[in-house]
Order: sequence, then C-alpha cells, then structure tokens
Amino acid sequence: MIQQSGLVDSPVFADESGQPQIEYGESVNIASSRTADPVLRAVAELARVASSSGERLSIDGIRRLAATYGVTNAYVGRLKGESPAKVSVTAAWINGAALDDYTYELAGSPCADVLTHGRLFVPSGAQTAYPNCKMLKQFAIESYFGAVLTAASGEKIGMVVVADSAPMVKDDRLHPVLGLFADLISLEIGKVTAQRELKLAASVFNYSPQGIMLSDAEHRICKVNAAFTTITGWQEADVLGRRDNMLSAGRDEPGLSEEMQAALDDGGVWIGELWSRRRDGEVYPESRTVVAVRDVDQRVLHYVCMFSDISAEKFAAERIHRLAHYDATTDLPNRVLLQDRLLHAINRAGRARGRLALLFLDLDGFKLINDTYGHSAGDEVLRQVGERLESRLRKADVVARIGGDEFAAVLNDVGYDNDIQAICDHLLEVITEPYDLSGHQGRVTTSIGIAVFPEDGSDVQTLLKHADAAMYRAKESGKNRYTFYAPEMNERAEERSQLTRLLRLALERNELGLCYQPQYDLATGRVVAVEALIRWQDEHGNMVPPARFIPLAEDSGLIVTLGAWVLNEACQQAQQWREQGLGFGRLAVNISGRQFQDEGLLEAVDSALSASGLPGSCLELEITESWVMEGPYRAETQMRQLNDMGINLVIDDFGVANSSMAYLKRFPVQKLKVDRSFIRDIPADQDDAAIVSAIIAMGHSLGLRVVAEGVETAEQSTYLRGTGCDEVQGYLFGRPVRHDEMNVLLLYGPTLAPS
Ligand code: C2E
Ligand code: MG
Ligand code: MG
Repeated sequence: MIQQSGLVDSPVFADESGQPQIEYGESVNIASSRTADPVLRAVAELARVASSSGERLSIDGIRRLAATYGVTNAYVGRLKGESPAKVSVTAAWINGAALDDYTYELAGSPCADVLTHGRLFVPSGAQTAYPNCKMLKQFAIESYFGAVLTAASGEKIGMVVVADSAPMVKDDRLHPVLGLFADLISLEIGKVTAQRELKLAASVFNYSPQGIMLSDAEHRICKVNAAFTTITGWQEADVLGRRDNMLSAGRDEPGLSEEMQAALDDGGVWIGELWSRRRDGEVYPESRTVVAVRDVDQRVLHYVCMFSDISAEKFAAERIHRLAHYDATTDLPNRVLLQDRLLHAINRAGRARGRLALLFLDLDGFKLINDTYGHSAGDEVLRQVGERLESRLRKADVVARIGGDEFAAVLNDVGYDNDIQAICDHLLEVITEPYDLSGHQGRVTTSIGIAVFPEDGSDVQTLLKHADAAMYRAKESGKNRYTFYAPEMNERAEERSQLTRLLRLALERNELGLCYQPQYDLATGRVVAVEALIRWQDEHGNMVPPARFIPLAEDSGLIVTLGAWVLNEACQQAQQWREQGLGFGRLAVNISGRQFQDEGLLEAVDSALSASGLPGSCLELEITESWVMEGPYRAETQMRQLNDMGINLVIDDFGVANSSMAYLKRFPVQKLKVDRSFIRDIPADQDDAAIVSAIIAMGHSLGLRVVAEGVETAEQSTYLRGTGCDEVQGYLFGRPVRHDEMNVLLLYGPTLAPS
C-alpha cells in the first residue's frame, strides 16, 4: 500500500513478541518537514481538499486522503454527545467504496485514545489491541492512525482516521500530515459553525416577532428589523442615525431613562415596561429589554434593544381583573373588590379618627319580578338599582353588588347617625320608585342593615357580618326599612346557627312529634279537618315553638326533609283513623314556601300517600299567603298538579300579605284561612271586624270556603257565624293535642256543642 503511494518504507511498529506497538502523541507542526516533493504535494493537495470541502469533507477528499496514505480506509468521525458517547462517521472511504451513516461506540475503540492523546498510531494488530471495537472488526482493520479534531473553543469534536486491513508502515514525513489535516478540518468546521451561527442570528433578527433596534454607543440607531417596522410603523431608512429614544411617548415616570442608562452601565442590561409612540401617533405599552454589547476593553460598542407591543396582554390582564372584581350584570364592584375597598376605607378612617358606615341592602320582592317578567327583567332591575344607588351616593362612596339581590355600600366620612339615617331614607325612597321593564312597571323595596366603624367593628369581616345581621333584622321587622346593628343581633345570629344544628340532630334523634287540632264546620258542627302541627321537645325536655325553628329550617334547607317527615307521619296517622272508622274530614298539613319551591314536593306528597294508603281526597295542604304572593306563577302549576291528585289547597294566614283578587282568582285553591291577627280583637275592633267580613264575602264570591283560625272566645265565634264564615279553628273548640287525645275526641265528640 505504501508502495502504491510511492512513499519510502518505514519499520513496522511492533515489538519482538509481535505485539503491536502503539504510538501516541500530539500533532506535529508540518513546517519542520519541508523536503520531499511528493509528500509536500500530497500535503498541499490535502490542505486544498480540507479547506475547500467545508465541514463535511467530500467523499472525493476522503478518497484522496486514503490514497495519500496508501490505505484501504479513511474517514472523518464526529463525536455525538450521547451517553454512552458515539462516533458518527460523516464521510468515509472503506475498502474501495463510500460509506454513509455509520455510528459506533467510542468506548473500547482506538478513537477514544485519539481523543485522549490527540493522535494515535497502531501500525498493526489493532483488533487485538482493541478487542471490543466492533468497527475494527466490521471494516477488517489491522492498522489504525487517527488525529483529533478540535474546535476553536478547545473542545474535542471528532477525529480523522486512516486505517488499513494490513499493517501500516510509518512514514516520518507523511506521519505528521494527518495532524495538520485534522487541524485544517477543525478550522473548517469552526468556520462553518460560525457561519451557521451568524446565519441563525440573522434569521432571528429578521424573523423575530420582537422589534429589534441596534444603536451605537452614542445611542444612534444603526439597524432595525422587520418587526420594528411592523410595530412602530417606521421604515429603517427613516430612523437610521436618529436617537434611539425617538419612540418614547413621553409618558413614563420621570427619571426612567436615567435609571435605564444606569442599569446598562452597571449590569449591562435593563428590562422593563414603558410607553412608546408609533409613527401614526398612537401610544402603546411596550415590554423592552436593552443589552449593552462591549468589547474586550469593556467599551460599549452597541446597544441592542428588543421590544414587543403588549397592548393585547395589558388589555387581557385588565379584562381578567375586571371579571374577577366586577359584577357583569351591573358593572359594580363585586364582593371581592368591596372587601378590598372597605379595608382601605377602614384604614383611612382609622388614621383620620373618622367614622364610616357599611350598608347591606337586600331587595324585597325581587323574586316576584324574576318569576313574573323573567330573568332579563330581573337583570334590568338589578342594573337600575345599581345606577340609582350610585347616583344617590357620593363619588368617594363605594357601591357593590355582592350576591343575587344583595348590594352593599360603604359611606365614607359619615358624621352622626342622623346623616346615615337621612341617606338610608333617601335610598329606600329611590329604590321604591317603579322600574321600567319594557312596557311593564316593576316594583321592589329594600331592607338595609347598617354597621358603623369603629363602634360596630373595626375590621372588614366583623363589619360585613354585623351589617348582614342588621339587614336580617330589617327583613324580619317588616322589610322596606333600615336597621342599625345592635350587639344582641349577633347573639341572635349565633343562636340561630346553634338551633339549626340542634334541629338537624332532633330529626335524627326523633325529638319531633305532631299535634292535631280540629276544624269545625259552623253550619253542621262537625269536624271537617284536622290540622297537623309540628312539635319539638329538645333534649332538655323544653318545647321549641315552630315559629322559631320553622324559619331556620327554611333558611338552611332542612325544611324539605322535615316537611317530608311531617307528611309521612301525618298521613300514616290519618289512615289509621280511617281504618278505625274515625271521621276527621280532611287532614291539613302545613307546607312552607321553600318546600313548595322544591321540585320534589309532588313526589314527597305522592309517596306519603301511597306509603300510608291515604287517598289524596283526604288531604289538604296549607300554604301561607305571603309565599303564594312571592312566587305566583310557578306556584300555579304545582297547585294544579296537586288538585289533580284530589288534594285541597288552603291559603293560610290570609289577609296579611294583601293578595289581590286578580291573583286569587287564578289560583286553584279551595279555602282561605283568615289570619289569627284579624280574629283576635273582633268584634270589638271595628276595622278588623270589617276586614274579616270583607274577606269572607270576597272568598265566597270566588267560590272558596273560609275558615277562621285562632278563635278563642264565644263572641268571636258568634260574630263569625253572623258573617257567614264557614269553618272555625281555635282554642275555644280544641287545642292542638297528641294523636291519642285526638282519637278520643274523634270517637266521642266530633261535633261542636251548638252555641
Ligand atoms: P298555622 O299553620 O297558622 O297554625 C296555627 C297556629 O296557631 C298553631 O301554632 C296553633 O297552635 C295556633 N293556634 C291555634 N288555635 C289558636 C288559638 O285559639 N289561639 C292562639 N293564640 N293560637 C292558636 P303553632 O303550632 O305554634 O304553629 C305555628 C306556625 O308554625 C303554624 O301556623 C305554621 O305556619 C307553622 N307550622 C306548624 N307546623 C308546621 C309544619 O309541620 N310544617 C310547616 N311548614 N309549618 C308548620
Ligand atoms: Mg296552618
Ligand atoms: Mg295560620
């Protein structure tokens, strides 16, 4: 082989035992070997091949390399940074043919030693010396000569190898050439990499969606990219040579440009947001990074400014903030923002030793608007309420919507309670004014609870809680009014939650029972109905009146379970009376508004009837007038379905909620029960007497039976008989009693003694 290339023979590197002798070493400078034309020609040729071939040596170049050394194999291998490290053959001439895409493991191969020592010469016995190297086996390599490729950074990046299937003779002049060749290729690779990096930088510059502006040390613009033009509207030609602060909108905090320069002088980089102006004058927010590029002497060569228009992000952030802090229907602050504003107001008032008032407003009768005119009308009322509140309060005050029909207001700097009262009077008035609902007029009122800082609380949560308790009281005492917080309200609120807890337990512990009270027909004197009334004897044996716990059960939703229990229990009892042949007319069961709203009511009634066997025609349900008035339209369908089951419907506590005749007419009810409060003072109280007569007359005109409840005296009874009242119920005729007493009553005295 060596002979083929015409080079002089050299001794084979093997010791006496025939073991290959391996020579390691660094590359040698070719300048020292200047003789022998053929070699120099070969070197010159190789140098030309290396420098014209680029990173990936052409196969032609590799073939020449093999020919120069007179060997069967030559290749360039690049290290692949995998684990375990591999060598990837980038150009190879193997046994007379080109080879692509070949990879082998570095470990165990002579190439590993090339990397360590820079150069490796194995004149013969390569496979014996590197028994684990598959590459040597595969290419049938016997002798190996490799030199390392080194990047400009000093990193070892591969090797150039000549190898042969026979022993290789060392030629002293040609031997150092491989190292040189490797250096030339390394340089080429470096050049290509640098070019590639430059290209990459150029395309980043050109195609970056960020605006990029290069300026010199004097802040004069010397280059901008396409995105710069897109964002600012300025062409490169218009801005070259101008100062790089030409985009400033002049809206930034004073001192910003000094701060930026100081940061650049100091750490070489500034990152921040500022306001810029486009060519057309539009101002936009910009996120900007400026980097100072320095030479080795730390002198600034350039400033690179990269920026993007963040109007969209800012807009989105504002939207998110709005969604999180404002109510979409009324555009008022929501509960979260209210708490924040309240906190600020408290801090301010605290510092100024001032007072502020927190108002909690809950609309009365809002549900009626929703049920009558639909939800969009409801939304309209909420919007108008918000506007009215805002327009009647001062700019410094805060109005918020904090729940369905709940609003709140923070009144800053309030002096005396009189002032707060005057404001509340005014608010009650403006809320009461009719609402224009595209053709209809809606009406609502509001109940207001007031908590004052610092007397009623000095922190956000306490004030909120106390204003809520006061609002609750305003509702309880008749709505459309305001109430100042008083400490006992809080106690009551505590008590309420305690009682609710106990009631839940009472249901589980069977502490609940039923009493029954008869109703008589005044004309025949017979029992026409028996009303089931719930009783709760608590764990200490005390009776808790229904008027106390029924509202709690309604608030907590417990009423649905409780109501179902009453229905079942009462129906079982009534069915027993039927089976015992005891005439009781109908069983009357009280149904609360909340139960009526519950979709499961029909099912609960149905299952109580079928479980007990009581026919629907033996049942009547009492619904309070005030609830019927609150949800008239929804109620109607439910009522008809109940009627269809043979069940009678009675409006209980009639007269207190001012039902209109129009409403009453459309309801499928069979009976009105005049509220006890009208009966109490008749016949002496002429107003009440007149009302009772009117209700009876009206009921009859609608074809309804009328029953009077709470009849305690013979005078009352006589008066009622005189007005044509159909039925009576009250202590005069029979108190509510347990079922066993009722058994006796039904057995022996189911009729009234004639009066
Ligand atoms: P209501 O349905 O109007 O029941 C009549 C109330 O008046 C009963 O009070 C009864 O004991 C009482 N009463 C009857 N005759 C007289 C009388 O001559 N004089 C006086 N001063 N009172 C009389 P009670 O049992 O305390 O029930 C109060 C309210 O609690 C009931 O009023 C009803 O609204 C509600 N309630 C009772 N049981 C239930 C129930 O099982 N479910 C529901 N949802 N509410 C119930
Ligand atoms: Mg009742
Ligand atoms: Mg009643």
